[in-house]
Amino acid sequence: MTATAPTPRLDVTPRLEVQGLFRSFEGREVVRDVSFSIQAGQVTCLLGPSGCGKSTTLRMIAGVDMQDRGKIFVDGQLICDTVFRVPPERRAIGLMFQDFALFPHLSVADNVAFGLSDPAREKRARVEDLLARVHLAHHIDHFPHELSGGEQQRVALARALAPRPRILLMDEPFSGLDERLRDDIRDETLSLLKEEGTAVLLVTHEPQEAMRMADEILLMRGGRIVQGGAPYNLYNAPVDRAAAAFFSDIN
Ligand code: ADP
Ligand code: MG
Repeated sequence: MTATAPTPRLDVTPRLEVQGLFRSFEGREVVRDVSFSIQAGQVTCLLGPSGCGKSTTLRMIAGVDMQDRGKIFVDGQLICDTVFRVPPERRAIGLMFQDFALFPHLSVADNVAFGLSDPAREKRARVEDLLARVHLAHHIDHFPHELSGGEQQRVALARALAPRPRILLMDEPFSGLDERLRDDIRDETLSLLKEEGTAVLLVTHEPQEAMRMADEILLMRGGRIVQGGAPYNLYNAPVDRAAAAFFSDIN
């Protein structure tokens, strides 16, 4: 008789799950019944025109704004509903915003180490490792003003990933950068995110960026997710004319 190896259990608990989020400002609903989930190692892009509710959705997940209705789970654990709320700093969620600047008075090394509570030697090793992987090892003792915009952005990515967040939320992180730099930084960012295995929610209004970076795109309009799926499914089979028009400037 042959022994049967135990069947490996597929871990299907999403890193992040949101269920039925709603948010109104002054009686106007700007996020309506938004639900989705993201697995470890997956990059999901929340894509839609300016004002459609992307940043509001992201802020509720970060815990700096609160939904009127709906639930948020990290690793299957409830972190927020309308009565229960884990504070932002205890959500194991990293943030990277366009205007989330580096601390000007701290060196590159100290910026990256900022959120780390590890002992000094481990902290230094993590900082050196991350800076090497964003090709900035030679700038470790420099200050932010000595770096280009693209280099500062890579330091900001290293800083966001240093504490090994379960989830990284990125809100239009590349929109302040020179057009010529963006594709390189997108590719470099993506490879680091994949190596780290972080679950990522990336907010953008640029279809090109979502097509380049996403495993899954959630197309948002007027506070709702109108279509979700793999980039080429949305591109090849847009849900309606407006979705088709939105993707039409990609070549
Ligand atoms: P996006 O990030 O997709 O551009 P936002 O989530 O920032 O959109 O905003 C969605 C809508 O909600 C916009 O009409 C915006 O003006 C409004 N809004 C966002 N935050 C507030 C607020 N704190 N008070 C009032 N209105 C807000
Ligand atoms: Mg926004």
